[in-house]
Amino acid sequence: MIRFEHVTKRYADGTTAVDDLSFEVAEGELVTLVGPSGCGKTTTMKMVNRLIEPTEGRILVAGKDIAATDPVQLRRRIGYVIQQVGLFPHKTVLENTATVPHLLGTKKAAAHARAAELLDLVGLDPRTYGDRYPDQLSGGQRQRVGVARALAADPPVLLMDEPFGAVDPVVRERLQSEFLKLQSQVRKTVLFVTHDIEEAVRLGDRIAVYGEGRIEQLDAPAAVLGAP
Ligand code: ADP
Ligand code: ADP
Repeated sequence: MIRFEHVTKRYADGTTAVDDLSFEVAEGELVTLVGPSGCGKTTTMKMVNRLIEPTEGRILVAGKDIAATDPVQLRRRIGYVIQQVGLFPHKTVLENTATVPHLLGTKKAAAHARAAELLDLVGLDPRTYGDRYPDQLSGGQRQRVGVARALAADPPVLLMDEPFGAVDPVVRERLQSEFLKLQSQVRKTVLFVTHDIEEAVRLGDRIAVYGEGRIEQLDAPAAVLGAP
């Protein structure tokens, strides 16, 4: 579903953030990208939705070279969740979740009904939380809205960049188990960045272990843990 072919990214200052990277993520697979800060994980992710363009190589999503795909069209098919999700402060939780499908042409009532379902799926009862504003939520609840919103356009691909990184360990643990449950139902193709090896092991079908701009190992959690 996602295929990197000899992808290199050099920034204008000469930093090589990603160096001749080739790998593939199957449809419905969740691959966690794990490694120390500055080794190219975020750069990898942002090239998939064309927030960053590769210097060399190409990236295919669903068999198509994304360089030939309009970035706006591309981003409709790729949900993106970051550490501090930016919700619209003057929209309610329900509206935040429904906005994108509504803008894409789904009728407001249908967009709201779907948003309510998704909020339920991420563990936020829409009857309790739907009418709240983002500043009336905890950090963990805001992250859930971010996940629901990313799923609202029903994208086949999800990019998650330390989505649970800013919440305390107890909440993170709960978000992880809810996300696993959710993923077992929605089966998105997911790239999930974390610097927490435990999170990578818990969530990943496979783990991509990053070193300086490269994937040093890409394997099932048990194989990664068992490595010398
Ligand atoms: P990670 O997500 O693993 O922390 P990044 O992909 O953010 O790593 O960064 C990889 C490398 O590229 C780092 O050395 C970082 O400093 C550098 N880098 C990231 N963004 C830029 C940029 N806009 N300009 C120059 N260097 C950058
Ligand atoms: P329409 O559905 O014809 O756009 P509405 O009366 O539903 O008209 O919307 C009025 C305003 O509220 C519009 O600017 C619209 O973009 C905005 N709006 C409608 N539904 C939503 C939604 N679910 N989330 C955010 N904004 C919305």
